[in-house]
Amino acid sequence: MDPSPSGTDPALGRDLDVVVVGAGVVGLSAALALQATGRRVAIVTADAVSDTTSHVAAAVWFPTEVGPQDRVAVWGRHTFEVLSATARDHPAAGVLLRDTVMLYREPPGRPWWAAAVDGVRDARPEQLPPGYAHGLAFSVPLVEMPVHLAWLVARFTAAGGRLHRARLTSLRDLAGVAPVLVHCSGLGARDLVGDTSVVPVRGQVVRTTNPGLTVSLRDQHHPDGYTYVHPRTDDVVLGGTLEVGRSDLVPDPDVTAAILARCTALAPALADAEVIGAAVGLRPGRPTVRLEVDERTVPGTVVVHDYGHGGAGVTLAWGCAAEVVRLVEART
Ligand SMILES: Cc1cc2nc3c(=O)[nH]c(=O)nc-3n(C[C@H](O)[C@H](O)[C@H](O)COP(=O)(O)OP(=O)(O)OC[C@H]3O[C@@H](n4cnc5c(N)ncnc54)[C@H](O)[C@@H]3O)c2cc1C
Repeated sequence: MDPSPSGTDPALGRDLDVVVVGAGVVGLSAALALQATGRRVAIVTADAVSDTTSHVAAAVWFPTEVGPQDRVAVWGRHTFEVLSATARDHPAAGVLLRDTVMLYREPPGRPWWAAAVDGVRDARPEQLPPGYAHGLAFSVPLVEMPVHLAWLVARFTAAGGRLHRARLTSLRDLAGVAPVLVHCSGLGARDLVGDTSVVPVRGQVVRTTNPGLTVSLRDQHHPDGYTYVHPRTDDVVLGGTLEVGRSDLVPDPDVTAAILARCTALAPALADAEVIGAAVGLRPGRPTVRLEVDERTVPGTVVVHDYGHGGAGVTLAWGCAAEVVRLVEART
């Protein structure tokens, strides 16, 4: 980057108000929310959007492995509303409202996240696969990420935004480019701001053809591993794993076989499905999401950090983006 002091960078454009670092679901949502307030926004991303963790995500509304609970409940509710409206109003956006049954072996009580979801109720016995005595039924947004991320990018560029590929070594590389930086680098925060509390939480998924499934099933407490079946329009995403600290990106064939076995036990119709492939993504795990203003890291620049969304970046992105806007408006 070769910034001039006046908020201009040859690669990013002139008179920028904000540069967002990161073009995963968190960065794109923040960039669009800031554009909606009339600000001129550019995005810097090291990776193509199709190579981000966000692209691999399953990606269903649910607050997996993320905190703090009180803020997650607020961010999650807002995102639930935005994604539900997107499903209703923008058929090309890749968002569906999906009936879901969450499976339990013990009575679940009323989970803390239920307030953010419309109409959580007890599942009927005929909705439960063999071996399960309890379930909660509800509908949540399911996001087909390859379609949805492309849709977000198209909206961003149509509104005049520029997306630039560069791998930063520090947020200070962007000093002077814009008065505000919004930092959404996910796992990249380990290097960009030296935050070692961010750790990879590896997730492997398997994609199959869809043999006619229309209901998501999930068992968060399966004794053999985290298990879910998420039918999309043309395929089904099966999961999964939550491997803290592991960061290799090659799918393990034994894990693929184990995922297929667990998921077929939940949804026997999968026995007739063809395996399309397997993929791995690295969730940006952190004890809590970091969403706060920092005026020390890049002198003369307001930095808003928005990273560490664990297994819930899709679930929280719009709620976090709304908070980013409030923080930026309070300081500029
Ligand atoms: C298998 C799997 C299933 C999942 N399922 C769900 C789900 O059902 N629901 C849900 O809500 N979430 C789910 N997640 C989690 C979700 O994918 C993440 O929380 C989310 O993608 C994080 O988004 P992000 O934008 O913060 O990060 P990313 O998508 O990782 O994007 C980070 C961006 O920062 C950029 N960057 C990083 N370092 C630098 C640098 N040095 N310079 C410039 N740019 C940089 C990258 O290039 C990229 O553009 C799942 C994840 C996995 C792996």
